[in-house]
Amino acid sequence: MIASTPIQIERTTTPKPKPPQDKLGFGIYFTDHMFIMNYTAEFGWHRSRIVPYQPITLDPAAKVFHYGQTVFEGLKAYKTADGRVQLFRPDANMKRMNRSNDRMSMPPIPTELALEAIKGLAKIDQDWIPDGEGNSLYIRPFVIATEALLGVQPSLEYQFIVIMSPVGAYYPEGINPVKIFVESHYVRAMVGGVGEAKTAGNYAAGLKAQDAAKDQGYTQVLWLDGAEHKYIEEVGSMNVFFKIDGTVYTPALNGSILDGITRNSVIRLLKHWNVPVVERVLSIEEIYEAGKNGKLEESFGTGTAAVISPVGELNWRGEKLIINGGKTGQLSEKIYNDLTGIQYGKLEDPFGWMIEVH
Ligand SMILES: *Cc1c(COP(=O)(O)O)cnc(C)c1O
Repeated sequence: MIASTPIQIERTTTPKPKPPQDKLGFGIYFTDHMFIMNYTAEFGWHRSRIVPYQPITLDPAAKVFHYGQTVFEGLKAYKTADGRVQLFRPDANMKRMNRSNDRMSMPPIPTELALEAIKGLAKIDQDWIPDGEGNSLYIRPFVIATEALLGVQPSLEYQFIVIMSPVGAYYPEGINPVKIFVESHYVRAMVGGVGEAKTAGNYAAGLKAQDAAKDQGYTQVLWLDGAEHKYIEEVGSMNVFFKIDGTVYTPALNGSILDGITRNSVIRLLKHWNVPVVERVLSIEEIYEAGKNGKLEESFGTGTAAVISPVGELNWRGEKLIINGGKTGQLSEKIYNDLTGIQYGKLEDPFGWMIEVH
């Protein structure tokens, strides 16, 4: 492995106009540069470079197209009020990427090199980090199998690419609860499968249920376990939490649940505040029971894009459960304010989560 290769930089000669700050949306616009690096069995990771944002050319037989050997990550860069640029826990993303790579029989990427790539790219395109409440720069590292060979074996060639997109506030009108359909037919993942890897097929497999839920007026689905359709896994592509009688519960990581960095950060924040938090198997039945007994106080999803997404309503087999009167709970709001406060440099960061880009 040639981990010490310096990153070559080719700057664009035709910078793009920046999009209007109030119309950013999510993943629509891309910055002027991208990072790219190649892997071959012979040379390991090599040719690390930052180049103008551009299309890539692949052989139609590239394995990623046929057998889905691919992994992605998602993290954000924030601009603070005094103009500093900081990343939220990028080391955690790179460690998770390597766990995903391992599950998908893909080679690990030296964490230091991947971090250097992300920092270098965020620095060169720092003018693209929008300021303004709630705006940020979404960073999408991904790895694809590029060997042109139709045999079903791990690819011997890969590319690691990082692209970046300025994104708008997830809640332009303030944090808002969503309605969630509890999915009893389709499943997202199975224990022993690839649910804990951030790999493309998991998301393709979820679209059908997501579309059906949307047709019925629900924003997303709540996934139950693949074996019995009884135990709670995730909401859409977020981890999920429930506050019951003063204690916060979230499904324990079991191999089919993605190990969210926001999930981990929320657990650490709650422990820091001495709020009881429990990771264990959680059935949908006990959530409904807690709801009926008046003990279910709040529920929320967690993920990089939204940070916190309060759940105001569940629908399980036609039975609706309204949570906290369909309003954002106090604890959900406090977690949201504190996490985003740390991310935007407005609050102290007692955990050392923020990494400044110089
Ligand atoms: C990315 C993702 C999450 C959230 O992870 P974060 O690191 O908090 O962004 C949760 N579930 C799934 C399925 C995901 O893909």
